[in-house]
Amino acid sequence: MTQDYEAQDYEYQARQVELDRDRQFRLGEGKISGYCSVFLGALSLLSVLAYQFPAYLTTAELRQVYDATFLQGVLKYGMYFSLFFGVLTFIFKRYRTLGLAGIFMTAIAFAIGGHDVPIQGIEAHRLSLGLDWLILAFLGSAFIFMTLEKLFPKYKNQVILRKEWSLDLAYFCFNHLAISAIVIYANHSAHRFHWAINPDLQASIQSTPIFFQVLLIILSADFVLYWEHRLYHEVKLLWPVHAVHHSVEDLDWLAGSRGHFIQVFSERAMVMLPLYLLGASESALGAYVAIAALQAVLIHCNLDLPFGFLKYIIVTPQFHHWHHSSEKPAIDTNYSAHTILFDWMFKTMHLPGQHWPAAYGTIKLLPRTYLGQTLYPLTSQLKKFSR
Ligand SMILES: [Zn+2]
Repeated sequence: MTQDYEAQDYEYQARQVELDRDRQFRLGEGKISGYCSVFLGALSLLSVLAYQFPAYLTTAELRQVYDATFLQGVLKYGMYFSLFFGVLTFIFKRYRTLGLAGIFMTAIAFAIGGHDVPIQGIEAHRLSLGLDWLILAFLGSAFIFMTLEKLFPKYKNQVILRKEWSLDLAYFCFNHLAISAIVIYANHSAHRFHWAINPDLQASIQSTPIFFQVLLIILSADFVLYWEHRLYHEVKLLWPVHAVHHSVEDLDWLAGSRGHFIQVFSERAMVMLPLYLLGASESALGAYVAIAALQAVLIHCNLDLPFGFLKYIIVTPQFHHWHHSSEKPAIDTNYSAHTILFDWMFKTMHLPGQHWPAAYGTIKLLPRTYLGQTLYPLTSQLKKFSR
């Protein structure tokens, strides 16, 4: 089967990743403590702000799912560990500035209320910044996927602080903070198709077992995402928007966050349409959202998990890494997000046995800053006209 998807006469080569010692985390230098202190300090400060101003800084939909009182307990540990790691950097001296920054942010977090701010209720469906979504997604993703990447790395020499990690962190922050605006926009777009709702069809879908409903959602979403993704690649005017996502050259759990805001908003709006029309139960929708969120991170990971026969059913890191390859046989292939069905059906699949890409990124180099990439759809067109 694998031979069917292997390009004839193409010499597949293994990617070489050099160990970057300057960016590596090593025990006993204070760098690990320094970064832990800064990240815990920043997350603590943001969490206290979210507890102080929930109407503006938390997501109504997410608030229904988590236990704010329990998370205050977690916050308490986060604050004390930030201080602990900050103090630890003074023993090693070299990364004292990071330790000081962590301690400083935690001190502000204590000053503006600390970990026992009274919990307030909020109005539902209000436009807000998803600070709670950002904090929880960062902690969850970093813990689950960095552990997996450490246990089953595809490229052992690739470091956590690889080139452009901070750029991708900026995308991660923006895309999570904007969650409420994205959901409002996507719901508004889907409701325009109110006329297409069939109540009998929705009732019969709701009467089926939950597993079937989730499967139906996955396949419908996959179909929409396949064509939306393919259009971004094949329509010349749209490509510069999507090229931002492809400009990343080292894939890991954070890399998938890189995406132009136009793509992020349009993608969510497109995928909302089948979900809206199918009218599946709340629990089926919840299960799909969780699966989709985890799979979106997983497929970008620096991860060589043995998926076995599943790699011919679902989209895995190897499958999606080929989508990010700049090698000729892989250009404009593997568009699917959840299952490989539509790539197989429409003959855009590239999964050459055990081979992985030798190079990632775009053929034409993009700007390397957040602003430069955000303006890229515009600047690339202007450049064309000025020629
Ligand atoms: Zn793509």
